[in-house]
Amino acid sequence: MKRSLFLAAALLAGLPAYAADHAVDHPTTAPAEAHPHWGYEGEGAPAHWGALSTDFHLCEIGRNQSPIDIHDALTAHPRPLKVKYSLAPNSIVNNGHTVQVNVPPGNTLTLDGETFTLQQFHFHAPSENTIKGQSFPMEMHLVHADASGEVAVVAVMFKSGAANPALTALWQNLPKEVGKPVTLSQKVDLNALLPASLTHYRFSGSLTTPPCTEGVRWLVMKKPLTLSQAQLTQFTQLMHHANNRPVQPLHGRVVVQ
Ligand SMILES: [Zn+2]
Repeated sequence: MKRSLFLAAALLAGLPAYAADHAVDHPTTAPAEAHPHWGYEGEGAPAHWGALSTDFHLCEIGRNQSPIDIHDALTAHPRPLKVKYSLAPNSIVNNGHTVQVNVPPGNTLTLDGETFTLQQFHFHAPSENTIKGQSFPMEMHLVHADASGEVAVVAVMFKSGAANPALTALWQNLPKEVGKPVTLSQKVDLNALLPASLTHYRFSGSLTTPPCTEGVRWLVMKKPLTLSQAQLTQFTQLMHHANNRPVQPLHGRVVVQ
């Protein structure tokens, strides 16, 4: 409870760019340097996250970790998602772990009768979650939080195909320099980053980056969007390496659809 409130406070205060892979990556206000370096390669690779800091122990011992391979989903007819996104003036930042788009308040998701507000969204290539063993070239995470700090992530897969116009607008401003947000030169309609059908898989999981905090509501859209090979290459060349955590064991969790 205390932790939830703390997370909420951190979210409401607006976390500095260096701390914001999943908006709640570093719930304390300590500078990033206070934590050992984590990443996707070498000594900081996902297999070592749990050993890098006591703050990261859930990455190693957690039993509700993300991402997962989604399979054998139980049909439970979840209530339709209610998403209210609008045109948003944004900034975009390369934080060294991902490319993150910061959004103003007001974009909401209604889930379980509660309102979750979009905090930021960012990208992983290749995808983190997989569906029936299938990996996708890219996955977007739209990170939401409610007033008490509960987190809900909407994940959208991208497969190879036609260029995505919203991505084109975002990628025009891809910042090469790490940690320096760039104000977007044009508004981007966030609805263009959602599939027409919001049918989805749902399960409980965690942040996919340290400290791997659990209790995150995951909603993985079934219908992928498309991106062009050039759009994918722009992102992967900027990142220099894959930025996906490997899939984690389910430990008895059930995925519903
Ligand atoms: Zn993510």
